[in-house]
Amino acid sequence: RTILAVAGVDKTFEGATRPALDRISFSVEPGEFFSILGPSGSGKTTLLRMIAGFERPDVGRIIMDGEDITDVPPFRRDVRTVFQSYALFPHMSVLENVAYPLRMAGARKSERLAKARECLELVSMGDFAQRLPHQLSGGQRQRVALARAIVCRPRILLLDEPLGALDLRLRQQMQHMLVSLQKDLDIAFIYVTHDQGEALSMSDRVAVMSEGRISQLGTPREIYFDPSSEFVAQFVGRSNLLPIECVDRNGAITALLEGKPLSGIAAPRTGPARMAIRFECVRLDAPDRPADGACSIDGTVKDVLFLGNALEVNVRCGGLNIIAAVPAASEERFTPGKQVRVLFDANNATVFHG
Ligand code: ADP
Ligand code: MG
Repeated sequence: RTILAVAGVDKTFEGATRPALDRISFSVEPGEFFSILGPSGSGKTTLLRMIAGFERPDVGRIIMDGEDITDVPPFRRDVRTVFQSYALFPHMSVLENVAYPLRMAGARKSERLAKARECLELVSMGDFAQRLPHQLSGGQRQRVALARAIVCRPRILLLDEPLGALDLRLRQQMQHMLVSLQKDLDIAFIYVTHDQGEALSMSDRVAVMSEGRISQLGTPREIYFDPSSEFVAQFVGRSNLLPIECVDRNGAITALLEGKPLSGIAAPRTGPARMAIRFECVRLDAPDRPADGACSIDGTVKDVLFLGNALEVNVRCGGLNIIAAVPAASEERFTPGKQVRVLFDANNATVFHG
């Protein structure tokens, strides 16, 4: 039972040299928190506008609950959108703003007000019903915009970088609120963001977009631990991307890092390749300690960043820089100039052939 299917959608804007959307296909399940993650310009907003009905695909179909809605106008689709800019009516009270879609739908006044109040409670804005939008903070306005978007109980809610204008602390609060609201309402959310932390922490599944295509689609864990491309490995989380050489040694393929064999790295074929290893999967130790079956390379600490909960230690190993994220408590052990051993486990490394 799929609530939304995007099937083979292409879109090239007039005068553009490359498609904004290129063979996009995916489906969303009812009640799912589905994120679309990608850098600026990767086609996220175009895709959302297409689901909402503001853009038409050149090729491909949009199917909602089994019905082809490709040619259905936006206002007839059971879909609402929340934007980064809250787009509230400035002359209407908060309550009137939230009740507005019900007025358009022809609901009676008593019903409109009751439902609008209920939605304001859901976003913890019950006490602000009589205020005007300019009397609210950015975070409060965004909660009102959210209440207005859910008041008609759409089957699908589209959110286009809704927290982009908020500061970090407020953004974190809103992330928690959105996740619990989504589970309570049982509405499918399609959430667009360029922030990988946001996508990983909130979503049931994530589609990672790059240049109009879906690079990878999976659960946050799959995307994080098993990136299918260099692009995903670099864009999601923070990874070292190290050049390696894969050579045949007595019938087994061995990966060499700076000419040194790495134990247990599985490479499908010989030749030059790159290996992604996350900062937090890299450990540091004294150079004379045994590697215990881990991959290891020795180097010199170049610089250290204090991040509060962790340190990022940049280690020069031959011609390479390798960054390790280690507990902040180990600060005095990793000062610049210190000789260290860099260690990581083969099962945390992903090899990409060019
Ligand atoms: P994102 O939301 O991921 O930043 P967009 O969907 O806004 O990306 O844009 C994807 C690409 O399509 C960009 O190259 C952008 O310049 C182009 N684009 C978006 N909207 C239009 C439009 N109305 N006309 C022409 N080009 C557009
Ligand atoms: Mg956008």
